[in-house]
Amino acid sequence: MKRNFHAMENPTGFFPYRGKKFSTPWKTSPRRVQDPRHLAWRVNQVCPDRPNGHNLIHPRHKAVGVFPRLRRGKPWKLKIEYWILNILFLALSACSPPPRDALLTGQTMGTSYSIRLAASPLGRGDLRRLQADIDAALAEVNRQMSTYLSDSEISRFNRAEADEPVAISPDFQHVVRRALEIAAATGGAFDPTVGALVNLWGFGPDGRPCAAPAAEPIAAARAITGWRHLLLTPDGQLAKDIPDLRLDLGAIAKGFGVDRVAELLRARGREHFLVEIGGETLGVGRNGQGESWRVGVLKPDESADLQGIARLTGGRAIATSGDYRNFYRDETGELRAHIVDPRTAAPVGHAVASVSVLAGDCLTADALATALFVLGPDEGLPLLAERFPDVEALFLVRTGDGFREIASPGFAAALRYEPAPAL
Ligand code: AMP
Ligand code: MG
Repeated sequence: MKRNFHAMENPTGFFPYRGKKFSTPWKTSPRRVQDPRHLAWRVNQVCPDRPNGHNLIHPRHKAVGVFPRLRRGKPWKLKIEYWILNILFLALSACSPPPRDALLTGQTMGTSYSIRLAASPLGRGDLRRLQADIDAALAEVNRQMSTYLSDSEISRFNRAEADEPVAISPDFQHVVRRALEIAAATGGAFDPTVGALVNLWGFGPDGRPCAAPAAEPIAAARAITGWRHLLLTPDGQLAKDIPDLRLDLGAIAKGFGVDRVAELLRARGREHFLVEIGGETLGVGRNGQGESWRVGVLKPDESADLQGIARLTGGRAIATSGDYRNFYRDETGELRAHIVDPRTAAPVGHAVASVSVLAGDCLTADALATALFVLGPDEGLPLLAERFPDVEALFLVRTGDGFREIASPGFAAALRYEPAPAL
C-alpha cells in the first residue's frame, strides 16, 4: 500500500508537506527553488519602465575616494583642503551610516518567511537581535497553534475531552475569536474545525489515502466537524461539545504570524517594511525607492509567472489561497486539493484556481482567501460586498488556455493592480 508520509516528516509546522513549501501564489517559480526572496527582489527592484532595474537598487554610498585625486604640482593649500574634506566626509559617514534595505529570512510554520526593512539604519548586531526576537515571537505562535507540535496548546485542546475546557493564551484567543466571527460571517465556508475532513482527504497527519474515502468515513468525519461545537469563554477557556473535534488553524495562522511580526516591528519604531510568511504579505510605509511596496500575483500554474502586480499601501495585507500547489490526483484522475468545502465534506472542486484577498490585516486576508476559495466568485463577491465592504478580492478562474480574472469592483483601484510586464 503506497502512502505518503510527508506530514509525519514535518514536526514543526502547520503545514503537512515538505519540499513543497508554498501554498499561495506570492511565491517564486519552481525554477527559483522555492525561495520567496527571488520574487520579492523581482517585484520590488525591477520597474516596468526601466526593465533592467539597475537604477532602482538602493545606491551603495561610497565612503572613500569621493573627491577627485589632485594632480601633482597643485598648491599645498588645496591639498590640505582636499584632505580636510575627505576626513570630514569619512567622519560623517562613520557617525551616520547611510540607511540601506535589509532582508531577513528564515523558516516558520513549515514554510519560509522574508522581511524587508526599507532604508534601515540598523547595523548587523541590531538586525541579528531583531531577527532573534522575530523568531521567538513566531516560535511562540507555533507553541500555541501548531497541530504538528504534540505539546502545543492546540494539540492539548484537540486531545481534551468534551467537558474539559483548556485555558489558552491571549494571542490564541484572538485568533479563535476572529476565526469564529469569520466562520459565522461566511456561513461556515471558513470553518476552523474542518481538521478531521482535511486529514481524511489526505492533507493531515495521516498522509494521502489510496483512494477517495468512502461515504462512511466521510460521514464520521463530518460528524466531528462544525464551528458551532467550539466555544471560547469570556475568561479565555476553549471548550467543545464533541470530544473528537479537531481544531485546525492552518488557514489563518500564517496571516496571524504576519500581523504579529508587523506589530513587533512597529513597536521597535520601524515604519517601512514588508513582512511575508509563506506568501501571505503585509506592507507598511514605502520601499527603499520611496514607492509603495509591490507584490506579484503569480499565475496559479506550474509556470509561476506573474499574472499581475499589486501595490500595497496603507499598511494593508494580501493573502492567497489556491488549489495548484498542495494537491494530488486520485484514482479517477480528479484533482484533490487541501481546501475542503464544509458543505460537501469534500475538497473544493471548481474552476477557481486561486483567490487573492486584500484586507486591513493579514489574519483577515488569510481567512477570507480560504473562505472565498470555497465559495467561488458567484457566492463570494456578493458576500464580500455585504459583510466585508473594506475587503477586495481577485479570483483567477481556469478557462482551458489560461485564466480569467474576476475581481471585486474596488480591487484594481485599491491595489493599482495591473497585468505583469513580460520580464
Ligand atoms: P490556506 O492555504 O490559507 O487557504 O489554508 C488551507 C488550510 O486550511 C488547509 O491545509 C487546511 O488545514 C485548512 N482548511 C481547509 N479547508 C478549510 C476551510 N473550509 N476552512 C478553514 N480551514 C480550512
Ligand atoms: Mg488562508
